[in-house]
Amino acid sequence: MSRGIQTKTPAEIEQMKDAGRISAKALRVTCEAARPGITTKELDELAEATIRAEKAIPTFLGYGGFKGSICASINEEIVHGIPSPRMKLYAGDLLTIDVGATFNDWVGDNANSVGVGGVLDEEGQRLIDVTRQALYAGIAHAVPGNHFGDVSAAVGAVAEAAGLGIVREYTGHGVGHEMHEDPSVPNYGTPGTGALLKVGMVFAIEPMLMLGGERVKVRPDGWCVVTVDGSRAAQVEHTIAVTADGPMILTCEDESDRWPDHV
Ligand code: MG
Repeated sequence: MSRGIQTKTPAEIEQMKDAGRISAKALRVTCEAARPGITTKELDELAEATIRAEKAIPTFLGYGGFKGSICASINEEIVHGIPSPRMKLYAGDLLTIDVGATFNDWVGDNANSVGVGGVLDEEGQRLIDVTRQALYAGIAHAVPGNHFGDVSAAVGAVAEAAGLGIVREYTGHGVGHEMHEDPSVPNYGTPGTGALLKVGMVFAIEPMLMLGGERVKVRPDGWCVVTVDGSRAAQVEHTIAVTADGPMILTCEDESDRWPDHV
């Protein structure tokens, strides 16, 4: 049942920083470990151990029956790749890791795409770079008085200017005690539409962009979403809070990353 868009108090947002920091740490550690030869199952175990060492809970594990603490998606896999001991990374792979942590009953959710082995081709690196630019364009619009459509349109504009496909079936989302709260935050939209952004709203922005066409499908495993044409995809995500001082990133380890200067 929809409860509408919740706002969090300043004290609650302070608490959410811990879940965000732990999520960011799990993401950084797994991305750093994503070298040729390692399997996505090993990365999953590393993420779970990192999260549990912080006395937090891997949010994804068991979510809707998901068998992993991370989603690990390689090349044409867009999102929701299931970690597997048979899925080994190779140099030049484009890997997306999505990971969430629950701490003190608050959730943090973040994702990043990286090249494996430091040999990603120029096109793949451009895809990752533009996806990150799209995320930060969206974040820059997450200010009180704007509408959700402004955030979505900003993300979509960056993707379209770069000629990249947008995943339209999957979206960002409100974050709080639950990983997926209202509203949905699509990666395309119309400025001035949607709910008004208010101080205390917390949500994840997560552009998922593709080098090729926009058709996607779910693999027979029921989870992994792939591009139909086999082109590669990237996803970069932060959980952010709308504050009177502007958009604040919750999923970061370092205070220097807290307030984006990409406005
Ligand atoms: Mg998310």
